[in-house]
Amino acid sequence: MLITAGPTCEAIDPVRYITNRSSGKMGYALAKAAHDMGAEVTLVSGPVNMNAKPGVKLVGVVSAQEMYEAVMQQKQAADIVIACAAVSDYTPNTVAGHKMKKKETLTIELHKTKDILKTLGEDKKFHLVGFAAETQDVLGYARKKMKEKNLDMIVANDVSKKDVGFDSDYNAVTMLKKDGEIVETLRESKERIAKRIMLEIERDLAQ
Ligand code: C5P
Repeated sequence: MLITAGPTCEAIDPVRYITNRSSGKMGYALAKAAHDMGAEVTLVSGPVNMNAKPGVKLVGVVSAQEMYEAVMQQKQAADIVIACAAVSDYTPNTVAGHKMKKKETLTIELHKTKDILKTLGEDKKFHLVGFAAETQDVLGYARKKMKEKNLDMIVANDVSKKDVGFDSDYNAVTMLKKDGEIVETLRESKERIAKRIMLEIERDLAQ
């Protein structure tokens, strides 16, 4: 099983970067739950303050491009891929070679990064699960993403709520399957949510 987790960091200069509030907790919990159930797990992770469960193979990356390359390499051996990482959607056009000096205003031009999950969906020989962190019309956007990225399941969560989601130890998710089935969880620890996601995947693969 291949799992992506955490944020990515996009360098501006040697000391500054653009990132997001992902803690990696959900992805690391998924890796642990899968390993507990007997899976051989590779975790491709952006920079986080956590250790992977012993036995999980950790591939550390920093930028979206590095995560893309690591995932493309590791996907060959995977039967199941879960993209849980909060990959930066944009990265600076250029990285300054030296620390940038202060000026009154600063404009940094960004360009889009590669969509790892979408690329995975284009030629998949594995069960593919994505995440959708939304702040509005959670189900509507999740359904659209599941189709666009050719997923078997999408796990949607509302990150506008204060007590779940980004950086929290808790989450509440809605799992949407490609056959239209919807499974909702209550607010539970990310460990319990991870276990429930794994059981759903196991059930879908057994069908
Ligand atoms: O379209 P959006 O970025 O909201 O979709 C979120 C899903 O896509 C997550 O599963 C995330 O891991 C994945 N993703 C990715 N590569 C990107 C952007 C998002 O794998 N560049």
